[in-house]
Amino acid sequence: MIELLSESRCTACDRCVDVCPTNVFDAVKGGIPVIARPDACQTCFMCELYCPADALYVHPFADAHVAVDEAQLVRGGSLGGYGRSLGWVRARAAGTERDETHRLFEIGVT
Ligand code: SF4
Ligand code: SF4
Repeated sequence: MIELLSESRCTACDRCVDVCPTNVFDAVKGGIPVIARPDACQTCFMCELYCPADALYVHPFADAHVAVDEAQLVRGGSLGGYGRSLGWVRARAAGTERDETHRLFEIGVT
């Protein structure tokens, strides 16, 4: 479940507000978003993947909240770690820019 929004890292881009399917975050005018409804989190990791500042941490335990320590997460390389382990690059799965599958449509193989 969502456990951390780093105030020092967040750039207030509000991307997490936009991508969260269960409306966990509230945008704050002139400030950074807040985790307004943590219990609505479904542990989908979308916010963590899309955050351009590695400011969010979603703990893989989905059934209850787990207390986390930001400094410890940073030391362990956990902020942004999920995306890195997937090869996720700038909100895009690594390699998709080289995927030429779409060209099958051009030659009618679909
Ligand atoms: S993990 Fe998914 S459901 Fe939970 S806060 Fe992030 S985007 Fe929303
Ligand atoms: S996506 Fe990341 S940087 Fe952008 S508002 Fe959310 S926590 Fe902050």
